[in-house]
Amino acid sequence: MTHSQKQGLATRSIHGSSFKDAHGSPHTPVYDTTTFAFESTADVLDVVEGRKVGNLYTRYGFNPSIRSVEETLAKLEGADQAWVFSSGMAALSAVFLTHGRDGIVCIGDAYGGTLELLSSQLPMLGIKTRFLLGTQLDQLDAVLNEGAKLVFFETPTNPVLEIFDIRAIAAKAHAHGARVAVDNTFASPVNQNPLEFGADLVIHSATKYLGGHSDLTAGAVMGTEEMAEPIWNWRKNLGSALAPAGASLLARSVRTLAVRVEQQNRSAQHLAEFLAQHHKVGRVLYAGLPDFEGHALAKEQMRGFGGMLSFDVAGGREAASRVADHLKLFTLAPSLGGVESLVTQPCTSTHNGVGAEERARRGISEAMLRLSVGLENIDDLIADLERALDA
Ligand code: PLP
Repeated sequence: MTHSQKQGLATRSIHGSSFKDAHGSPHTPVYDTTTFAFESTADVLDVVEGRKVGNLYTRYGFNPSIRSVEETLAKLEGADQAWVFSSGMAALSAVFLTHGRDGIVCIGDAYGGTLELLSSQLPMLGIKTRFLLGTQLDQLDAVLNEGAKLVFFETPTNPVLEIFDIRAIAAKAHAHGARVAVDNTFASPVNQNPLEFGADLVIHSATKYLGGHSDLTAGAVMGTEEMAEPIWNWRKNLGSALAPAGASLLARSVRTLAVRVEQQNRSAQHLAEFLAQHHKVGRVLYAGLPDFEGHALAKEQMRGFGGMLSFDVAGGREAASRVADHLKLFTLAPSLGGVESLVTQPCTSTHNGVGAEERARRGISEAMLRLSVGLENIDDLIADLERALDA
């Protein structure tokens, strides 16, 4: 049964876990313990050899706080299984080490840390990594013929919000015996479920929309049992499971995911439309705008266009810096997905290390500002932008 045949996402985010506390708590509390007691050695063996599901050792993820949020997260992505990690990067690392050892191809832009891991660090372990821009998708067959067995991409991408056709890429990858992992951080499960379109794994920086309050660093991987199971052993021995307190905070946060993201979708759409008609603004990159290149595709594979948007300030790099510096409600900070609105200038922060030439090749202009739209009143956000653009 696909997730769409089950309860709605908001219901799943609140009631997705079957873990019941012995004292009647409506949510799974923090089991702040490193280990669990057994009645007999036979009981221990049942859990160790996988005949029984049981609590054992927290680093293994065999802890009720961890398992409880994993059950909910799996349901949000229509997956058999979810694993939670100490960060989004820990989740990505475990996926690449488990399924990417025969070669990885990364399509389009990705988070800077992901790009560094793929371009500088995994090759040190002998893992071949290749990169294709969205405009080079015609080369995907050739790269897959060379033997890459994992196709990885974000959609929408950071910071140009490019939309990739998950179904088409998955079909091509599968025809070559390769698997597909999608970083769904920007969309969140409210707006998009890549597994529905043929992806094999979904990855989240739960630090962003899933956590939603800029107070939690966490990651998650969701997939079929076949794809997820081998990742567990890597997480166990890399020691990168999310701690119980983080798991409990994540479960608390996910309960409001749907209302938060739906409001962020609405506010981002308003802001995109406001910016698109402003005389001091050039391009506005947001899939909810009808003239945006990925609009039609986004309408097919997304339920909402998300809370992230980028735009160019007329006047170039200095003018964009001035706008960012004059914003008051939008905090100048390099993250996203929280209740507070954030602004970044990619060339001075997230994409500074990429270099001017590479930024230009990737369509990341010096005049670009990226917004993560929070939950403040939309009129106040528009007034803040209007004032800063006038400054
Ligand atoms: N994936 C995306 C799309 C991100 O934006 C980030 C961080 O900004 C990450 C992964 C890494 O997540 P974390 O900071 O939780 O390790």
